[in-house]
Amino acid sequence: TARPLKDPSLLEPRAYVNGVWITKDKTFAVHDPATGDCIAHVADLDATDAAAAIDAAHAAQPGWAAWTGKERAAVLRRWFDLMVENADDLATILCAEMGKPWAESRGEILYGAAFIEWFGEEAKRIYGDVIPGHQRDKRIVVLKQPIGVVGSITPWNFPNAMIARKVAPALAAGCSFVARPAEQTPLSATAMAVLAERAGVPAGVFNVIPGSDAAGVGQELCANPKVAKITFTGSTRVGRILMQQSATTIKKLSLELGGNAPFIVFDDADLEAAVEGAMIAKYRNNGQTCVCANRIYVQAGVYDAFAEKLREKVGALKPGNGFDAGVTTGPLINEAAVAKVERHIADAVEKGAEVIEGGQRSNLGGTFFRPTVLTGAKPGMAVAKEETFGPLAPLFRFEDEADVIAMANDTEFGLAAYFYSRDMARVWRVAEQLETGMVGINTGLISTELAPFGGVKQSGLGREGSKYGIEDYLELKYLCMGEI
Ligand code: ADP
Repeated sequence: TARPLKDPSLLEPRAYVNGVWITKDKTFAVHDPATGDCIAHVADLDATDAAAAIDAAHAAQPGWAAWTGKERAAVLRRWFDLMVENADDLATILCAEMGKPWAESRGEILYGAAFIEWFGEEAKRIYGDVIPGHQRDKRIVVLKQPIGVVGSITPWNFPNAMIARKVAPALAAGCSFVARPAEQTPLSATAMAVLAERAGVPAGVFNVIPGSDAAGVGQELCANPKVAKITFTGSTRVGRILMQQSATTIKKLSLELGGNAPFIVFDDADLEAAVEGAMIAKYRNNGQTCVCANRIYVQAGVYDAFAEKLREKVGALKPGNGFDAGVTTGPLINEAAVAKVERHIADAVEKGAEVIEGGQRSNLGGTFFRPTVLTGAKPGMAVAKEETFGPLAPLFRFEDEADVIAMANDTEFGLAAYFYSRDMARVWRVAEQLETGMVGINTGLISTELAPFGGVKQSGLGREGSKYGIEDYLELKYLCMGEI
């Protein structure tokens, strides 16, 4: 890596199963998307290995659940502390395998760690209920118990945080966990396991199974009766596959799927703030987040001014290797990601849009793409329907509040939405009508461990973060007590 690790043992190419570091004859290469260099050859675990990890997790889970909440909290606290202490190295590993700028990588590590801190604290507060009996001699008690073994499948765009958001509530609740990280970014996951082991997470409670066979391992996790629950972040397409595969064993599912976030700027908005918000909501992580603004609707009265201000800011972004100083924007994850951005631009231009900034690959080569702004976007274009997942902001012009709400809701997705307005009545009206799980109002950044993150419609099931996040890992058990 371009930055030496203070603790080289954090770069771990082995898998971690049942408290043992495992090598395999078969490995797969992990590449730095900024340079194409191979960073490591990682143990390639298959469906049979996944079944062994599930067995280990299944055996370890009752013991872990028997710990008090306070005991589990202490381990999670140590894990959190270790992640913060090692944030620089974890950021270096993340930057090398995923490409986001180093400072942004470090931000992700702290963001991910915050979930471990938060849910560690929640481990002590998994309260049940006592309900007045329905008959004179009856008492009703509700217990909350861990759901069991959790199988996790996560994407490459947040190699640390997507796992942290899942494993933290799971372990806090008393579940055990089998993590299949994305094949592009397994090293952030194994680094987490190194620190989990040091923190005292017992053998078998947290297992990391890197591998190149996503479909085979996914099938095993979904079909294996010892897995009680699947938690997944990724595309709606794969979410549907996992849901189908989980049907035979009626698995509980938490799904954080695709988005197509509208970002609406009303005439009465603070325009400077709206431009700032759009920069964050659109270009953070190079447009590769599921809550990235995908469609930017600007009211006619401020359309031209907004477009010009956004163009200026976007033109000042600096693509480059995430380890270089001053770089704001890394490469896209792979060639397919670049091809999708190019296809969306070509389709929009063919249907009448105009490129006012960027629009093409960067002269840095590889998968670097110039941050792009399009004006004159229209509902029939691919950018209106599909998640671009890249640095492309299409600006749609609108006249009227009811119209823009209808356009914003005209999608099968319902993850995040954003809008800018200073009119209190409008803020309530619009917020209530948007069909999404999350709404950013006069802000472009909504993710925090303190709030429930998740989508409606085909953007998913369940919530991550906040007091609600732990419920996804708990089952209710009702005790009806008689003869009292
Ligand atoms: P993305 O476009 O963000 O990579 P995907 O939904 O394609 O979204 O991938 C998210 C995660 O799901 C990745 O770790 C990928 O390897 C995994 N994955 C892809 N296909 C399958 C599948 N058929 N079964 C299980 N996991 C899969």
